[in-house]
Amino acid sequence: QLADSSTAPGNAAPPAPRILRIAVPTPLRRLFDYRPAGQPPVGGWRPGLRVKIPFGRRYLVGIVMECAMQSELPASQLKPITERLDDEPLPADWLWLCQFTARYYQHSLGDTLHHALPGPLRQGRPLEARIRERWQLNHPETAALDVLSRAPRQRELVQLLAQHRHGMITSAITAQGYGRAQLQGLLDKSLVTRVSEPLTASEGWSGALLAEPALPLNREQATALSALHEGLDRFHPCLLHGVTGSGKTEVYLQLIEAVLGQGRQALVLVPEIGLTPQTLSRFRKRFRAPVVALHSGLTDLERLDAWEAARSGRAPIIIGTRSAIFTPLARPGVIIVDEEHDGSFKQQDGLRYHARDLAMARAHREGVPILLGSATPSLESLAQARGGRYRHLRLTQRPSRHAPAKLELVDLRGRPRQGGLIPPVIDAIRQALKAEGQVLVFINRRGFSPSLACHQCGWIAECRHCDSRMTLHRQPPRLVCHHCEHQTPQPDACPSCGSADLRPLGAGTERSEETLATLFPDTPVYRIDRDSTRRKEAFDQLLTEIRRGEPSLLVGTQMLAKGHHLPHVTLVVVVNADAGLYASDFRALEQSAQLLVQVAGRSGRADRAGRVLVQTLHPDDPNLRLLADSGYDALAYQMLEERRLAGLPPYRYLALARFEATREEDARQAAEAAGDAARQWLGERQSAVHCLGPVPAPMERRQNRYHVQLMLSAEKRSALHEASAWLVGWMESAASRRVRWSLDIDPMTL
Ligand code: ADP
Ligand code: ZN
Ligand code: ZN
Repeated sequence: QLADSSTAPGNAAPPAPRILRIAVPTPLRRLFDYRPAGQPPVGGWRPGLRVKIPFGRRYLVGIVMECAMQSELPASQLKPITERLDDEPLPADWLWLCQFTARYYQHSLGDTLHHALPGPLRQGRPLEARIRERWQLNHPETAALDVLSRAPRQRELVQLLAQHRHGMITSAITAQGYGRAQLQGLLDKSLVTRVSEPLTASEGWSGALLAEPALPLNREQATALSALHEGLDRFHPCLLHGVTGSGKTEVYLQLIEAVLGQGRQALVLVPEIGLTPQTLSRFRKRFRAPVVALHSGLTDLERLDAWEAARSGRAPIIIGTRSAIFTPLARPGVIIVDEEHDGSFKQQDGLRYHARDLAMARAHREGVPILLGSATPSLESLAQARGGRYRHLRLTQRPSRHAPAKLELVDLRGRPRQGGLIPPVIDAIRQALKAEGQVLVFINRRGFSPSLACHQCGWIAECRHCDSRMTLHRQPPRLVCHHCEHQTPQPDACPSCGSADLRPLGAGTERSEETLATLFPDTPVYRIDRDSTRRKEAFDQLLTEIRRGEPSLLVGTQMLAKGHHLPHVTLVVVVNADAGLYASDFRALEQSAQLLVQVAGRSGRADRAGRVLVQTLHPDDPNLRLLADSGYDALAYQMLEERRLAGLPPYRYLALARFEATREEDARQAAEAAGDAARQWLGERQSAVHCLGPVPAPMERRQNRYHVQLMLSAEKRSALHEASAWLVGWMESAASRRVRWSLDIDPMTL
């Protein structure tokens, strides 16, 4: 699939090709041959040019990957392209990244390119010569501020616009943290006018770099930064391993300052959850240069704008979630992956890539430094750092006076619970509130209760479509399956015995919220989970409330646990720490240890010390004890040793083939056939790759489909990839239409 060197991007135009090999957005893992047509572009036909082509009965946008003189197809079967869409090819580094991704994850190249392009470019819109929108206040002296007393964000935007006599373009407005919603609001009230104008030259920025002075660094931060300064002009992989609140972000900011000082760009990847105005506003407050944010709330045009700004070099700082790894940069200077251990960097369907791993490959290729930051590094990154392949930079101190609080394990056994909480913990909450602190109650289950049971006969509400229980919700009342979203009304009586004695078992966020509101009627309770923040700006509003610092109770899932700076929290309560301790998945313990430490890190971040109470039914569990007594690093190094002994990542590499079908035996037979064929192929080659399974997936039935899986495991990545490529080829040719299959390289869960 790779272009050979004679047609590599960037070379001078070779003689006009007779054949264009084109990547087409289909699942098929191959290129398609077409004849060139129309005027060749000025630099000649080259890889990276978009073209419109007839494909089956449709027209699709494809990308030229190779230029050749001959095709294996007879000339009569070769169709000409319909239209050339670009004068200039897409950036060579970007093409390389897509090719690498497709090869590494055994995915179709056409599909990968499609995934990596902003929507309008996928649809064939031109790269340049776009129109942009400018927004102007209708009445600069505006009396509108009264009208907008109920819409504070719109009001702020009016004040911003009032400072710009000629109005502002959309990207400048979004760069200040405003969105479509506010603009539309002002438009609806006829307070602003929208004018379209052609996009002209770049809007550069010049002059001073910083809008506020950098903080004086403490000794550890300074040591880390000077190590980073040494590697600015080359591939220099570093792990910034710093306890929660140790000032990693300040190190990022000063590293970026150095990179911008060289006239280069910084790409910052953050987890889904972290891309809140809080993170962004720290970057925006620091730099005068525009900070472009790439997140799911953007419209297609805004996304294209951001992409263009990065590609052209207009945007010096790009911050985005997982998919931002595919943003082209004119002058790459550094890649930073914040909270590198976070699971949201791995895409779990379609193109199953890991943005952190791609970031590493990309930094290597582009010869730039890469910084992975975390208080709880993944075992993968920790092993690399320990092996000396990444530079290991540590921050062990917080700039604030207080070290992260130790976890105090609280025995749940045999104690009465109210909303999941036992009496001594409720007392501790009362004391913390009395001392004017905020309390964070962490419970990783949304809804009222994770199950509804009949007290007479033991019946439990289960999903009709999955091997799972229904979660009881009260706001509004209903049963919901969290795996397929299937909903039913809450039954009045047991469907099995008719008894009316149906009781919720266990607590979710809604139940803890309700209990706490009853126990502490004079204290505000804020619930933060996916349900309470479904509305776009609800989360930010809640965070703003919380940061005012009044004594209050925060009940939340991991949405609240990660990354946020909550300076007034003095007590963190973990309702139940046990979910990950005995789960079958090999990463479950790692992930729950990371989550516990991240939650605990929300406490005592400002001028008051914090406490963390962890409720558990297994206070003597050796892993939990190690985490509580010695901290994450000690447990992490022990887990690494266990992984080595068990032959699991990062000491071996895995690929997981998943098969699913509406009939159980279809999925099973397909997986068995694939397993037999793979074992035979591996045996003939005396390959060191192991093939395990098939086995039913952990939740075998989901949405009425049965899931079976087969695993490849190898000590050498190259061997795994050879076997995976073969398996994909085999499945492509042998798979029945009744069975859907996929291959997951470096799976996060088994
Ligand atoms: P992390 O990213 O490691 O969780 P942050 O960068 O959010 O930590 O820093 C935690 C707090 O410490 C922030 O309020 C930040 O402004 C402050 N801080 C960081 N570095 C310094 C420093 N060198 N001097 C004073 N305060 C600092
Ligand atoms: Zn019953
Ligand atoms: Zn379900």
